[in-house]
Amino acid sequence: MNWQDIARETKINSQYLYPEKIPSSIKSRFTKSDALKRQFEFSPQELEVPGGNPDPIGDELKSQGGGIIHRYQNRILFTPTQACPINCRYCFRKNELNQGHKFLSPSLKRLKKYLSEHPEVDEVILTGGDPLILSDSKIKEILDTCLQSHIKYVRFHTRTPIAIPERLDQSFLELIRNYESKFKRIFFVLHTNHVDELTQPVLNKIKNLQNFNISLLTQTVLLKDVNDQPQALKELFELLVETGFTPYYLHHPDKVKGAMHFYLSEEEGMQIYKELRKICSGWAIPHYIVDSPHAYGKKLVINQLI
Ligand code: SF4
Repeated sequence: MNWQDIARETKINSQYLYPEKIPSSIKSRFTKSDALKRQFEFSPQELEVPGGNPDPIGDELKSQGGGIIHRYQNRILFTPTQACPINCRYCFRKNELNQGHKFLSPSLKRLKKYLSEHPEVDEVILTGGDPLILSDSKIKEILDTCLQSHIKYVRFHTRTPIAIPERLDQSFLELIRNYESKFKRIFFVLHTNHVDELTQPVLNKIKNLQNFNISLLTQTVLLKDVNDQPQALKELFELLVETGFTPYYLHHPDKVKGAMHFYLSEEEGMQIYKELRKICSGWAIPHYIVDSPHAYGKKLVINQLI
C-alpha cells in the first residue's frame, strides 16, 4: 500500500474533544508498548487534569497571518497544513490545529510577500501540522516559493516517518535530491519520543536519508510516563545516532490545556537530564530546552543546572 492510501485509510475518531487519529500499524503495537498507547490513545485524564494553556508558546501573539509565525529575527515558522498523520495526545497545538484558527491557515502568496519584505529572514521552518503529509507537488511549490526569495535554509519538522514510514518513498527521495543543493542547507528534523517508535521499517526508511547532503536532526518531548527515565532517553538517543541522526532538542513539556497529565516540573526534568548526562556520552545528548509561554522563544534549561 502506498503512503497516500495509508493516510486516507486512517480514520479520525471524533467522539472525543480532541479527536483520535492513529494509523493501524501503530495501534496494533499498543498491546506491546505503553509508551505508544499513552502518546496516541485518548485518556480521560485529558479532561480531568486541570490547568494548561490553549496556546502555550504564544503562537498567535507572534502570528503574521497566512501560517507565518515570526518569533526570532532570522527565521520564521510556516505552517503549510493543519493536518497530521497521527494525533499526538500531548501536542502543544492540540487546541489550535483544525479549530478554526485563521492564523494557522497557510497562504503561499502571503509567504512570498512576507519574505520579500523581510530580508533579515534567512530560514523557513516548515511545521504544522506536519509538512510531510502534503503531496510532493505541494512541497515543491513551497520550496520554490522559498527559492524565489533570499532564503538559505529550509527546515522540515516532521513526525510522519514514525506514523507512516512509507512516506519516505522513492518520489520523495528524488525531490530531496533535486533540492539538496539549491539551498545552503536543508534540515530534516524527526520528532520522536521513544525507542518503541523506531521499528525496523521506520529505521530502514530514515536511514536512506543519510545518502543526501542534508542535516539530520531530532527533537524529543520529555513526557511523564512515556520517556521520563534517563535509561529510556539514552536508548532513544543512541539508536538515533546509530541511524545517522543528531539528537538536537529535548523539549521540556509545555503547559498544554488537555495535556497536563504529561507535564512534569522543571526540577524533575533537570534531575532526569542530570542522570542522563552520567550515563550517556555527550554526542548523544540534545539541548534541554523550555519554551516561553509568553512567546519569547526557547531557553536552555541546562543553564539552571550549572
Ligand atoms: S505530529 Fe506534531 S503537530 Fe501533529 S499532533 Fe503530533 S505533535 Fe502535534
